[in-house]
Amino acid sequence: MFAEVIIDQEAKATDRVFEYSIPTGLNVQEGMRVRLPFGKRIVQGFIIKLKEDANFEKDKIKPIIATIDDFPCIKKEMLELMQFMAKKNHLTLASILRLFITSEMREGKVKPLYKSYYSLAENKEYVLTKTARKQQEIINYLKNRNELVSADELVNFGYSSLKSLLDKGIIIKENIKKYRQPFTISAESKKIVLNFDQKNALKEINGDETYLLHGVTGSGKTEVYMHLIERVLLENKNAIMLVPEISLTPQIMSNFKSRFGNLVALLHSGLSAGERYDEWNRLFDGEARIAIGARSAIFAPLEDLGIIIIDEEHEASYTSESNPRYNTHDIALFRARYNKCPLVLGSATPSIESYEKAKNGEYKLIELPVRVNGKEMPKIQIVDMMNEIRMGNSGIFSSQLLADLTSVINNKKQAMIFLNRRGYSSFMRCRDCGYIAKCEDCDVSLVYHKEDQRLKCHYCGKQFKVLTRCPKCGSESIKKGAVGTQQVVEKLKEYFSDVKILRMDNDTTTTKNSHQKILEEFKNSLPAILVGTQMIAKGHDFENVVLVGIVDADQSLYHSDYRSSERTFQLITQVAGRAGRSEYEGKVVLQTYAPKHYVYKFASNYDYKGFFRKEENIRQTSLFPPFTRIIRILFSSHDENYVRETLKVCYNEIVKLKENFHDAFVYLDAMKSPIKRIQDKFRYQIMMRLKMQYADLIEDEVFKIINKLSKENVYFEINPQNLS
Ligand code: ADP
Ligand code: ZN
Ligand code: ZN
Repeated sequence: MFAEVIIDQEAKATDRVFEYSIPTGLNVQEGMRVRLPFGKRIVQGFIIKLKEDANFEKDKIKPIIATIDDFPCIKKEMLELMQFMAKKNHLTLASILRLFITSEMREGKVKPLYKSYYSLAENKEYVLTKTARKQQEIINYLKNRNELVSADELVNFGYSSLKSLLDKGIIIKENIKKYRQPFTISAESKKIVLNFDQKNALKEINGDETYLLHGVTGSGKTEVYMHLIERVLLENKNAIMLVPEISLTPQIMSNFKSRFGNLVALLHSGLSAGERYDEWNRLFDGEARIAIGARSAIFAPLEDLGIIIIDEEHEASYTSESNPRYNTHDIALFRARYNKCPLVLGSATPSIESYEKAKNGEYKLIELPVRVNGKEMPKIQIVDMMNEIRMGNSGIFSSQLLADLTSVINNKKQAMIFLNRRGYSSFMRCRDCGYIAKCEDCDVSLVYHKEDQRLKCHYCGKQFKVLTRCPKCGSESIKKGAVGTQQVVEKLKEYFSDVKILRMDNDTTTTKNSHQKILEEFKNSLPAILVGTQMIAKGHDFENVVLVGIVDADQSLYHSDYRSSERTFQLITQVAGRAGRSEYEGKVVLQTYAPKHYVYKFASNYDYKGFFRKEENIRQTSLFPPFTRIIRILFSSHDENYVRETLKVCYNEIVKLKENFHDAFVYLDAMKSPIKRIQDKFRYQIMMRLKMQYADLIEDEVFKIINKLSKENVYFEINPQNLS
């Protein structure tokens, strides 16, 4: 027998499949971790395939030394997923492996996944000394329980007593690898009676299809997810629920924890390595049966999946933009099909791609059209900021927003002010010569942070001295760019000096529990204003929020990106959804310089379908996804000449390809990337748009071309979320 093995090391030379022989008598299975000779060293590897014959010269093949565990660490489904991803995303197996198991496991620190259980030995005669009170207590306890009792339950009696009973053979220990926790709904969690639409959703989601759950904000989607998961647990199956990193708020976690207790394992970037390792093991072990987390939780080591849920399915963060690149939806679909279970995509503002699929019947559309509280959606008032300027108001806030804020505060309620730009102002520029302070390593302007008197690069994090005088012409007349969250807070404090004003953005949430603290403080303060970036847009459910102000709605509208209208629509809908979630009526003030833009018309009427039809039409006529496929090949390196040369070689080959498949290309060009340098790496790109009927074919061909190049510094992206 022979084995195909991947060596678990980051080095490029080992990033391929190796063959080893299996010594007779060694019990191996696919997916097991093994020790191997590699060059002069002994290393760890994973068996990905067993086979009768080898391709390599047999007398040169070395034998595996030993297995590390006696169970496969990568299960069959994941081995198949590995092959799928390798093909679909053009990734190496070793890089995929790193997504599947935690780094702690790969470094060989894995502990056996067993749990100890104790019971009384049958018909064992014994005499205990009088002083062995603790031992007697253990015996009584086990007698009363009359079943296997886990080590956790007995630890209070003290380990030494346990051990001496074991040594005397009075009790016996069994190691059981897998066990299921009985499923009970915790008493503290409120039991909710589903409304008609929610019940209908539950009824409809019963096959192994993909379901698009389109529910307005506050329509009770989360409650539907919980009921679906409950059902899955009762069928003795397991569940994965993905949420965007940004909405992994303490609120959602405690909701699920209080309903499902220890059956929930959380996987997210805020965990320490040890915590992640434990959560991973609890899932692998079957102790936890619901994996909740950001995109990487799609690789949760659960078998027998009964459902996969992707909440806020339109979120860009579901596409991994660092290597290895993958799209979470593809992987979720693979796993759902493998397990023959439903895949549920939930959103108040589905992506145009997903809604198009629902329209074509590829997904099944399920709607939650009204809020559970029976209230109308909060009214969105559009304020024309040009008009404000004409009226002599050149400040951040329109007179309408100020008036509404004042009334919120007088009524001792709460407001949220949304602005997707952190810092104090977006740039610093010399008024006399036009010099702009830029990062040394990135081709972007620096953001002014007034609190710590620094200019910061939001791409690489580098900090610089504040510009007080122009280094080029010496002028001291410095202009500050567009308003950021710091400035909004500063100005609000001028208007409302004795009101609690909090800020939540990347700068205020750097420590572990800062997120939670800010939200707690906000929740407990009346009146209060919370200023924030898109961190405040999702998931929060505060009953006293009656006003949402959107300071600069146009901000995401003018990116040269085919998704910018879609993003703006989504953002407005999400933020607006924070207001009026309880019995109090909510209102939204949306400030814009382009009040007639179609995005605002549809968003202010909560007309998703109208927006979809308009956007679909635009994409269809201008030939953008989902009606074409965009491929970007990004080249990035410290060596600009090298980048240009590689790009040229690659581009020439693609031009040849285009000559053969003329009809396939809507667009093909090579250029500098919009941001020409990040972290001192020069960036160039080849962009193409392909007609859908040729897209798979050309994608494969393009990848063959890339594979001939050195893969370092080359990034292949399909319908990228970010075109900078
Ligand atoms: P969404 O995720 O669609 O924005 P949520 O699931 O967060 O909405 O629900 C909003 C609020 O309504 C939550 O506090 C939730 O507990 C509550 N809720 C959900 N369904 C019901 C229901 N059927 N009856 C009463 N309250 C409900
Ligand atoms: Zn100057
Ligand atoms: Zn930088």
